[in-house]
Amino acid sequence: MQQDWLVDAAAPREAEAHAAQEEVRCLCGAGSDSAVLTAQDPEARGIWTYRRCAACGLERLSPRPHIEHMGQHYPDDYSPYCDPAPQTASRADRLKRLAYETFFALPEERSDTARRYRPLLRLALWPLRNHSVLSFHPPATRRVFELGAGSGADLLEFRAAGWEVLGCEPSAVGCAAAARHGITLQQTTAEAAELPDGLSCVYMNNVFEHLHDPPAVLAKARASLVPGGLVVLVVPNHASWAARLFGRTWPGYDPPRHIWGFTPESVRGVLERAGFEAVSVVQKYPLSTFCWHAGIDGYRVDEVPNRRARQVLARVLGRGVILGGMLAAAFGSADFMRVVARKPG
Ligand SMILES: [Zn+2]
Repeated sequence: MQQDWLVDAAAPREAEAHAAQEEVRCLCGAGSDSAVLTAQDPEARGIWTYRRCAACGLERLSPRPHIEHMGQHYPDDYSPYCDPAPQTASRADRLKRLAYETFFALPEERSDTARRYRPLLRLALWPLRNHSVLSFHPPATRRVFELGAGSGADLLEFRAAGWEVLGCEPSAVGCAAAARHGITLQQTTAEAAELPDGLSCVYMNNVFEHLHDPPAVLAKARASLVPGGLVVLVVPNHASWAARLFGRTWPGYDPPRHIWGFTPESVRGVLERAGFEAVSVVQKYPLSTFCWHAGIDGYRVDEVPNRRARQVLARVLGRGVILGGMLAAAFGSADFMRVVARKPG
């Protein structure tokens, strides 16, 4: 079955961006595809192809660059490398922190406010419950390793909540930013990182879809986690309303950096095949209009049709499109999902 967003695969290609590529099979092992989508690299303008597996629904970039050539596709000003803000919490940060204490923290970790007004806060903060980095029920011991930690912004939140924080990041710029906040990262990829034993959480925020070999990284995580330890992933949801509505202009397609396009079912399958259990998938909409806005206005895609009309429409709809994201989340089709899976123990 071909989708409406199937476009001419003979679109111009940049020889340089396509040097040294490899074909990729689906992680479930199936060999047939139900759809093909070409998407544009918003950085280098190259055209790339995503294929959707007919058996499990997972989308994959194929062909893709070899892993040793990936570094050239991440510019130094790639946004996750930017220095995290100084640790003066904004009002939004304080609200997210309160939501974490209300919904997820152990009783002894709750502030007086969260303890005293918990029933009221559960009502008032319900829409924010999935917006903290720590929006999951943590294990009793707190030792996290973040793969692809960028500038360490999320590890700062873990540390503020009392976790021992470890991590890796291939970018020198990201490692330097983290070091300025007292976090020493291994400067390497998730595939090459050395994970110590005794971890209670392996965390990846918008990283899992970048990995060349997700099963190998999950096997390494499983070996280093304590029994009952968690893998926590935040990934774009390729079954989201916005992904289906906007196709290749949806920012979840970010070739060649995003190699995998997960859906709730396909990410569950990847984790279960890697030996994890109790996989939960929670819909998470961003507190910004970015995904819908970028989808409507054609987000840096050169040859998008009706560009001018789309830009006007995006401007007219303005911040109102956040309602689209909230509605999609309520119906299980948000732009992002948080996936939590447990090592049996
Ligand atoms: Zn598959």
